[in-house]
Amino acid sequence: MEKKGLDGAREKLKDIRIEGPVYEGMRQIVNDHPELVRRILDHYAMLERGEWIRPNLPNEMQILYMRDRQTLSFLLFPEMLEIGYQVGRLIGEKFIAPFLTGRTLPEIMQSNLHFALDHNYARQEIVTAAEDYAVYRNYECADCYGLPNIGLNICCYEAGTAAGSFETPLGRPVQVRETKCCANGSDFCEFEVTVL
Ligand SMILES: [Zn+2]
Repeated sequence: MEKKGLDGAREKLKDIRIEGPVYEGMRQIVNDHPELVRRILDHYAMLERGEWIRPNLPNEMQILYMRDRQTLSFLLFPEMLEIGYQVGRLIGEKFIAPFLTGRTLPEIMQSNLHFALDHNYARQEIVTAAEDYAVYRNYECADCYGLPNIGLNICCYEAGTAAGSFETPLGRPVQVRETKCCANGSDFCEFEVTVL
């Protein structure tokens, strides 16, 4: 029997599997919007130059609105963590990877390290990095620091963005799993990076 209400809705979301062809379709949609891609890259360039994207308001804003949206989205629909991860992969591929340097995983991760702090997202630390496996931590993460334990690792955008950022210059698929999260009883977020 089909479940009703929230359980029923979540049941449907659970059936969404984002594998190779689905991700390829997602990439195609983004590629079909070159103006959007160009504009977002322009915005990053403006940020780099210290220019405001909006005429009267700075690029910085308090982080609570953004994190409330995603915290509640994932609390109510944890199935969306997978979707967020895959969207993050595309963000990493399109908007972060072009700014990274290096050929090996440790080199690429090292070149990425400063972004988190530059943008006040988190204090990032590489715990260990080898050719096909790495662990890094985010302290004081903008997405989850200070939240109580809701039993979920919610930083799927961070994990996905890292995967897309690393796999693009590497030319091999990369999986990033958040293994510790402030929303799941830890004092920091920890991510496991595996080159597939
Ligand atoms: Zn987290």
